[in-house]
Amino acid sequence: MFQFELVVTEKCNLNCSYCYMQNTPTVMNTLDFQQHYEMLPKLMKIYGQADFSTAFFGGEPLLNWNLIEYAVKIIKMNPKNKGFVIPTNGLLLTPEKFKFLKENNVNISLSFDGLWNKSERLDKEHKSRFDQYMNLWTNDRESWLPLLRNCKIMISPGTMIGKDSITDNYRWFIDVIGNYYPDFTLVRDRTWSEKTISLFKIQIKELADYTIEYIENGIETMPGIFSLYMLDTILGEKYGKRTFGCFAGCSGAGFMPNGFVYPCARFGSKMEKPIADSNRKKILNTKLQNINPKTFTECLNCELWQYCNTGCTYEQQIQGGPVPGVCTLFKACYEQAFRITEQLKHNKTFHNVIKQIVKRIGG
Ligand code: SF4
Ligand code: SF4
Repeated sequence: MFQFELVVTEKCNLNCSYCYMQNTPTVMNTLDFQQHYEMLPKLMKIYGQADFSTAFFGGEPLLNWNLIEYAVKIIKMNPKNKGFVIPTNGLLLTPEKFKFLKENNVNISLSFDGLWNKSERLDKEHKSRFDQYMNLWTNDRESWLPLLRNCKIMISPGTMIGKDSITDNYRWFIDVIGNYYPDFTLVRDRTWSEKTISLFKIQIKELADYTIEYIENGIETMPGIFSLYMLDTILGEKYGKRTFGCFAGCSGAGFMPNGFVYPCARFGSKMEKPIADSNRKKILNTKLQNINPKTFTECLNCELWQYCNTGCTYEQQIQGGPVPGVCTLFKACYEQAFRITEQLKHNKTFHNVIKQIVKRIGG
């Protein structure tokens, strides 16, 4: 399925420490959208995709709410569109917006880092919005609880040197939010230093220790950072390694406010490797070189070769192969995921957890 990543604005109301977008004042208008929407079927054909799913991306996409409303009304008439999602920090959500999104089957993917919001996701005045989230949640639990229980939580270099460890944040999600499967995800770029990588190794081991302890006490839980690598291991053994890292360059694209299309929003934010010019209705270079993880020479002798789907394609294009620091993080995650599996392989609660994980990805 083609990923139609429509970057409706590059502006944001936050200034997160690890964000790769330029936070420039660009905003997509209805004409830009129409020109991109005309380009969409041509790119789907080139990449051999029969249908698509739409993501309204940013910056903070809710800053261009009028365009989202306009585009949803048009795209939802297209039977090839299989779904909508808005990755958002959620601060601009209102009861009216929730109503519109629900009526039009638009999903929200909340970017919220729990305790780390206090240090890594500050606004432009360098102030924390953590308390604002807690108020929003308290005042409208019905709308906010599902978002907080399914949010994306980024582990970045900054979180390694802050006050709260990964385990502190894990316990906060369980105790305060009731999120037993917090979706911790790695920032996979070149910003990790030797110091933050060595701190990560210590913290990820502590996180695995706590996960084992919870499960041995009959609590069904698993941080996403482990379930992802458990699934990659199962899928790698069953079906072999994937031939792509992500959709960039093979099954999706980022459609930017400047009228150009790029392999994804990250390429677009740097204006690198444009694949089409929607204003002039021109296809440019749609091929990215060296994106198949099976062919990376750096990976051939790696113990994770069979399972690892490598890091961010953009970072690898810049680096000319896998980013060594990110590989060290992957290895630490796999090591702990294997340890959890080995230690709990006969544990009934762990078997239920695995069933839950497979169910959550629709397996
Ligand atoms: S950890 Fe690095 S070297 Fe090993 S397979 Fe993954 S990307 Fe390749
Ligand atoms: S290139 Fe990186 S930022 Fe772009 S879609 Fe792939 S993983 Fe995401």
